[in-house]
This record gives sequence, structure tokens and C-alpha cells, in this order.
Amino acid sequence: MMSVGTEFLALDLGATKLAYCKSVTAMLPNVDRIELPRCGRADEEFAALSGRLESLPPVSGVPVICVAPSLNAAGQVLSWPNRPYWKGFPLIASLEKLLGTKVRWLGDGEAAALANAGDQRGLSYVSLQFGTGVGGAIVCNGQVLRLGPINCELGHIIVDGGGPICTCGARGCLQAVWQGYCRGEISLERLLDLLAVMIANLARIFPGSQITLGGRIFDVDGKDVDGKLVQYLARGVRASCPQEEWLPTIRTSVFGPNAPIAGALREAVRLGNEHV
Ligand SMILES: [Zn+2]
Repeated sequence: MMSVGTEFLALDLGATKLAYCKSVTAMLPNVDRIELPRCGRADEEFAALSGRLESLPPVSGVPVICVAPSLNAAGQVLSWPNRPYWKGFPLIASLEKLLGTKVRWLGDGEAAALANAGDQRGLSYVSLQFGTGVGGAIVCNGQVLRLGPINCELGHIIVDGGGPICTCGARGCLQAVWQGYCRGEISLERLLDLLAVMIANLARIFPGSQITLGGRIFDVDGKDVDGKLVQYLARGVRASCPQEEWLPTIRTSVFGPNAPIAGALREAVRLGNEHV
């Protein structure tokens, strides 16, 4: 594929699917999905994506993919609790070979955070995305905050020391509690109470931040229509963090489950404009 088209390409590799979309602007168009099969071999599962991706028309600039697994600097899978046998798979190199172009990548939580922060500046923008797992990241001054060599893992902050075992091996991560809720083993109230404690802790590090919740936490569209659950959550945060100066504002993502790919598209457009 040559970089001669007019549309930017964004992709989102999740636990069960690869989503992708093409657009000339950062406005999210219809998103196509390819189911990711499960056969226990990374190369065979990746190969199932190749037919559709190879047939894509040329795109503009550098495609951006947001990914559920953690990758190292070379774009190889460091860990993917949902598909542990992908460890070591050269994901980005394989995708670049398939598309015939360089590919940029970021974590799906990071991409969602970029979409949710949008053009806003001046605060810390914390984003939590509830899908199969929980992705999350923090955006400051339009940049994803990275304080180490790999992305931060907000979904694996421990919120309940006696909680369920997480796919990462720890006990009581936010993600493990969320998945327990999805299985009907943990009540919504319990989930929100624990989430409130986590947000109160984040508020001590990022005072006055804006917290955006996306994905499937409030309903299938990710929209808390009447705001009652956000109000319940905000009361819980206030109980654990009584000082006004630290309190975050809490809202739901306008992108719902599409926040990660919206952020990847935003990044693809930004990179494309940088090189004009
Ligand atoms: Zn975990």
C-alpha cells in the first residue's frame, strides 16, 4: 500500500476483534469489524485478518493502531492476558508488512484518553474504558502521560485487596472487579463504590482532573442517560476525598465503546497534518 490516498486509516485491536475505519477528518465514520478467531496460535489468528486488510485501498499518511496488549518498543507483544500465547508476536512488523507502510501504535486506553480529552487543555484528563477489560490513561497538555518505558495500566490498579483474581495474576484489580460485575458476581453498587475509591486516589495525584468513563459501564452505548450513576459515583468520590480542591469532575464519554478507535483516528489525522 502506498501513502497516496486521501483518507486516514485507524485500527483497534481488541480482545475479540479488529476494528478499522477510514476518514479524511478526525470525525469518526462507520467502523468495520473483523472477528479475531481463537485457535491458540498468534500467527494463525493474525493471518485471519490479512484478506480484508490487504484489500484496503491506499490511505493518506501513517495508519495508527490502538491495541489491547502491551507492546515493547519494537512493537512485539509483551503481554496479553486475554491471549497469552501472543507473547513475543511481532504485531507491528506483521501489520506493516501486510499494509506495506509504516504503522504507529498506542495503547487502547491511551487512544480513548486522547479522544475523550479532545482539544481541551489546562487539566489532567483521566480516561477509563470498560470493555472486555479496563483500559485507561491520562492526558496532560494534549499528550498521553507516560512516566516509564511502557504504557500505564489504570485498569490494573488494585481496588479490592480481597477481590477476585485478575487475568494479570494480581487480586482485586479494577479490571477483575469489572469482569466480576459482568459475570453477575459483583453488584453495580459494589463496583461503583470501589471505582469511587480509585478515583479518589487518582484525585490526590491529579487534583481537579476531569474523569471520563467510557465503554459498557453504564449501558450498552456507554451513555449514562439520566446521570444518576455518575451522581452516585461522585458522592462516593466526595466521601473519600472531602477537599473541594482535589475533587474531579466525572462524565461519560460521548464516544461510548468507540473511544479507542476515535483516538487512533485523531492521532492518524494529527500525524498526517504534521507532515503536510
Ligand atoms: Zn490486573
